[in-house]
Amino acid sequence: TASGGCQKIRGVQLHELLESKHNVLFDCDGVIWNGETAVAGAPEVVRALKQRGKRVFFVTNNCTRPRQSYVQKFARLGFADVDEQEIFSSAYCSAAYLRDVATFSGKVFAIGCPGVHAELRDAGISVVEEEEDGPDVNISNCALDPDVRAVLVGYDEKFSFMKLAKACCYLRDSECLFLATDPDPWHPLRGGRITPGSGSLTAALETASSRKATVIGKPSRFMFECIASQFDLDPESSLMVGDRLETDIVFGVNCGLSTVLTLTGVSTFEQAQVYKDSDEPKKKDFVPDYVVESIADFLEALEE
Ligand code: PLP
Ligand code: CA
Repeated sequence: TASGGCQKIRGVQLHELLESKHNVLFDCDGVIWNGETAVAGAPEVVRALKQRGKRVFFVTNNCTRPRQSYVQKFARLGFADVDEQEIFSSAYCSAAYLRDVATFSGKVFAIGCPGVHAELRDAGISVVEEEEDGPDVNISNCALDPDVRAVLVGYDEKFSFMKLAKACCYLRDSECLFLATDPDPWHPLRGGRITPGSGSLTAALETASSRKATVIGKPSRFMFECIASQFDLDPESSLMVGDRLETDIVFGVNCGLSTVLTLTGVSTFEQAQVYKDSDEPKKKDFVPDYVVESIADFLEALEE
C-alpha cells in the first residue's frame, strides 16, 4: 500500500483501491458539498458506491444541525438515498458520548447551535435551558445550575462573554466534564470569507478555565468508534475521504483507515507535501495515502 504516500490517483489505481474497501467514510463540507452546492458528480458517486454493495457513511464536524436536518439537506442537494443512520455529526456523537461512554448524570451546559441542543435532548440528556438574562444580570450575580456536570462547546453564532463566564464557573469543579464537539479553527464561506469554528470558542474556554477539552469530532477516534458500535466496521476495509489534513486525514490515520485527500475543499496538495517532507515524525499523520482532484473521479474509476 501507499501508506502516507500522498499519491495522486485516478482510473485503474483508484478502481483497485475502491475494490479493496467495503466501507467509505466521507467528510461532508469540501468533499460532497460546498455550503449549499453539491460537488459535481457527488450524488452519482454515492449512488454508484451503494449499487456496488459498499457501505457509505458521512462523518462531519459540523455540529449545527440535528441528523434529521442533514437528511433533508442531502435530499435537497440531490442525494436521493441517504439514510439518517449513515450520518455521524459531531453533535450526534457528542450526545452519544455523554449517553454511552461518560459515566455521566446531571445536566449539560451546552454552548452551541440548536443542532447541539436537539441531539442532546434526543439522546435523553438534560440540558440547561438557555434563558434571556435580564438587564441587571451580570457575571457576578447570574444564576448557575447546581446540577451541571458537563460543559459541551460547539459552534455558536450567539457565543457571548456571559456564556464563557458561566462555562468557566462550571469548570471550576474538576468533576465537571469538559467536551468540545470539534477542534475546527475556521470554515470557508462564500466570497472568500471565513467563519470562526468551534475550536476557536473552545480555545477561549480552555484559556479561561486552565483546562483542556476532550474533543469528540475528527480527528478523535470516538467518531469511528461510534460508527463501529452500530455497524460492524473493520478499519482495514474502510476508506476515509476528506478535504482537511488536520482533521480528516489525522482521523483516518488515528483509526487505522486508508486515507484520501480530495482537492475540492480546504487543504491543498502542496500542504500535504509540506507535511510529507517535514522532518517531524508527528507530521506524517497529516499525510494522506492518496489524493484525488474530486470525488467525481470515483465515478469513472468505478466504471473502469
Ligand atoms: N462546523 C461548522 C460550523 C461548519 O460550518 C463546517 C463546514 O461548513 C464544519 C464544521 C465542517 O464540516 P465538515 O466536517 O463536514 O467539513
Ligand atoms: Ca470538510
